[in-house]
Amino acid sequence: MTIGVAILGSTGSIGTTALRVLARHRSRFHVAALTANSNARVLAEQAKATGAGFVGLVSNGNDIPDAWCLGPDALVQAAQLPDADIVLNAVVGAAGLDATLAALRAGKRVALANKETLVVAGELATSTARESGGEIIPVDSEHSAILQCLAGRPASQVRRVILTASGGPFRDWSQQQIAHATLADALRHPTWQMGRKITVDSATLANKALEVIEAHFLFQLPYDAIDVVVHPQSVVHSMVEFVDGSVLAQVGVPSMELPVLYALTHPERIEELAIPSFDPVASSPLTFERVRLDDFPALRLGIEAGRAGGAAPAVFNAANEKAVALFLDGALSFVDIARAISSALDRLGGLPGRTREELLAADVAARDHVASLFRK
Ligand code: NAD
Ligand code: MG
Repeated sequence: MTIGVAILGSTGSIGTTALRVLARHRSRFHVAALTANSNARVLAEQAKATGAGFVGLVSNGNDIPDAWCLGPDALVQAAQLPDADIVLNAVVGAAGLDATLAALRAGKRVALANKETLVVAGELATSTARESGGEIIPVDSEHSAILQCLAGRPASQVRRVILTASGGPFRDWSQQQIAHATLADALRHPTWQMGRKITVDSATLANKALEVIEAHFLFQLPYDAIDVVVHPQSVVHSMVEFVDGSVLAQVGVPSMELPVLYALTHPERIEELAIPSFDPVASSPLTFERVRLDDFPALRLGIEAGRAGGAAPAVFNAANEKAVALFLDGALSFVDIARAISSALDRLGGLPGRTREELLAADVAARDHVASLFRK
């Protein structure tokens, strides 16, 4: 019997990476389910290649096979399948939340790339996991690194974690230059090939704020124990400083295949010959810089929202999602993204955020607020 993996968001950057990894490990895993938002053509190819028992398409359903599940409910259905032992959530944005919660409620392992889940509903997701025996294993490279460095040691032995950030395409741009950054500039990430939303998040550093909040919930660490350092080479994936002063880092070439595979096998490791051996000399020099918080306000805003708690992280996330979507459509400028987030947090950051309904209401209010700011 092989382990069933449901891949939510299979047509995206992480989804296709996961399918490449799984194709090399067919004696251990099978693909139990595939879902995509709208790319029916690629989804059909993937369904044929993997023989997945369940195929779900959220929107755009012309001329599709009768057996496919259609509509927004496809994600939750895939997440609850008895044949899915692991749910790899590689959906982008808060749209992934309900599927994560459903998989956790069913006691499954969620291999979580969809960091927005933990930002919108960190308390809810972690308490659901605790109560139902489900578990969240991060796919995000920084959090995979921390998990590997911790090797089962409790938060009480950790002094702090240090998340590394590539710094994005504007790492060495002046504030003046950033003010004139175009969409094409923002989409030119120096070290990672990713979906468009996370690529823009890496340029504003909103991605690192999402990751600080993600680390807070995943590892149950206070915000004071989570630092960020810029590391342009993306070779040191993150570090853990223990109470005795020792620091462990997880290191390797930038490839999401590694953290995807590890999220499936944790705490075991299995042989993977397709990943080239690490060459420290070829990767050198490795450098580190302080993060320029004043020039990348989205990072500071996100960390403040995390500290504030309640619905503030959900408002931060939704305002960012909406602003990035508008930026990708050419409807606002790069620096407007942080302005929109700031305005939404000022207006809505104090909303209650204990239940799923309260969090989703805050999410909708933040999107509406950002849309109203830029309505012509
Ligand atoms: P992507 O845009 O390439 O792919 C997103 C996938 O989700 C696609 O399959 C798409 O069909 C599906 N999707 C989009 N909107 C949906 C919706 N409303 N309902 C259902 N499905 C929907 O994105 P990506 O770069 O693969 O990122 C996916 C997630 O992984 C994000 O949360 C991102 O932050 C995280 N992540 C990505 C990387 C990376 O290297 N790409 C690294 C770390 C974390
Ligand atoms: Mg990351």
